[in-house]
Amino acid sequence: MRLTKIVATLGPASLSESGIRDLVAAGVSVFRLNCSHLSTDELPRAITLVRESAPMAGIMVDIQGPKLRFAPESTELTDGSLVEFSLADIGIETNRDQGSRGLEIGHRVLMDDGRIETIVEHIDGDNFSLRVSSGGVLQHGKGVNLPDTEVRGSVLSTKDVADLKVARSLGVEVVAISFVQTPADVVSVREIVGEDILVFAKIERPQALERIDEICAVSDGVMAARGDLGVETPYESVPAAQSRIALSALRHGVVSICATEMLESMTTSTRPTRAEVADISGAVRDGFDAVMLSGETAVGLHPSETVRAMTRICEEAEKHVSLPNYFADDNPVAAAVTSAASALARRISADLILSITLTGYSARLLASCRPVCQIVAITPRPDRARQLNINRGVYPLVVMRDGDFTSAVSSAIQQTKQSGLLRKGDTVVVCASRLNPRSDADTILLHREPNQIGAS
Ligand code: PEP
Repeated sequence: MRLTKIVATLGPASLSESGIRDLVAAGVSVFRLNCSHLSTDELPRAITLVRESAPMAGIMVDIQGPKLRFAPESTELTDGSLVEFSLADIGIETNRDQGSRGLEIGHRVLMDDGRIETIVEHIDGDNFSLRVSSGGVLQHGKGVNLPDTEVRGSVLSTKDVADLKVARSLGVEVVAISFVQTPADVVSVREIVGEDILVFAKIERPQALERIDEICAVSDGVMAARGDLGVETPYESVPAAQSRIALSALRHGVVSICATEMLESMTTSTRPTRAEVADISGAVRDGFDAVMLSGETAVGLHPSETVRAMTRICEEAEKHVSLPNYFADDNPVAAAVTSAASALARRISADLILSITLTGYSARLLASCRPVCQIVAITPRPDRARQLNINRGVYPLVVMRDGDFTSAVSSAIQQTKQSGLLRKGDTVVVCASRLNPRSDADTILLHREPNQIGAS
């Protein structure tokens, strides 16, 4: 069974009952709804459709954030020329303006995925002049990036706040925040969505990369959003940046997702390029919890085939990867019991770790220790089970908890067997909390499934 999870973006090619079911059958456990392509009015219908079609899948609502776009009609920018624009021309909302919003003389203004490069030469209120260092035809609507500018003001637009309120009211599992710059950006989102929804920071700005440890410290997860990251930082630095993001997440025990162009060629082709296979294998080696598909499943010609290809590549890569337990190195007390359970499972080549958890917290601690086998997380809470779908190696099962500790363990084993995740002869490390089911694990047990009926 695969450890690395697959997140698939829904769009015209897949946002239907059969499309969603096919993707689950192919291996998707979390669906991403991209608010850059959904209006606030469309979002509730999309969330409800996923819930009805795949009741146990996780939903991640990806908040658009302050994506800047070139507003005027198309124009040609010639090398060496000086051009004049206003803040509104490059998509900066001026009604909540604070001067030039952090833009300074000497800062780069990149357009059209970095193909056009300009440098701010003069600023006068809302207007500024740019020297074109690398020109081209700039079309209306193309993206604008300000890699040198820590943009002042909220990371959330009016639409973002409305989308977050929809996400909260419909109880999605995760919200992902675009263009995070500071830990405070994440904290401001948590104030809107509350404590029950996981808040992930998309790392796509150099300012966020510089503060990755601080951002991991306040987030539930991070995404290496390599599309914009490869514009705002030199594209050749993206592989090192993604490894750094994954490592910081591992050390802090938060979820990590590797995103963008992972199987881009399969948007139209039925087979991946060898470079894409190597890229996904690299993400598995980096230790990411999940790999993500964007246009491939949203608008691609072969959504299910693409997920199946990703499944195969992850499974093969995992055979050759054993990740160190960085989380326990940095958090010896928080990870005391779960890292012991993980080490025990590795030492005795256990087939499974069974995590008996109420809130999902101890299952997440276990996943952070990166054990070599799967973790079946037994929780009575369907919302927590859906959230655990994003954690590497965690397969959640909803089982009511009644009776004492011993009966909770035996009914967990029974349900795991019934679900087909536990087979005859399997060795299982059980990790649970005997004293306070709401807290970290305090107990480790060993269980061996009999090889045949009657054997012990
Ligand atoms: C990215 O930039 O890589 C990304 C995942 O964000 P978006 O798809 O919203 O541009």
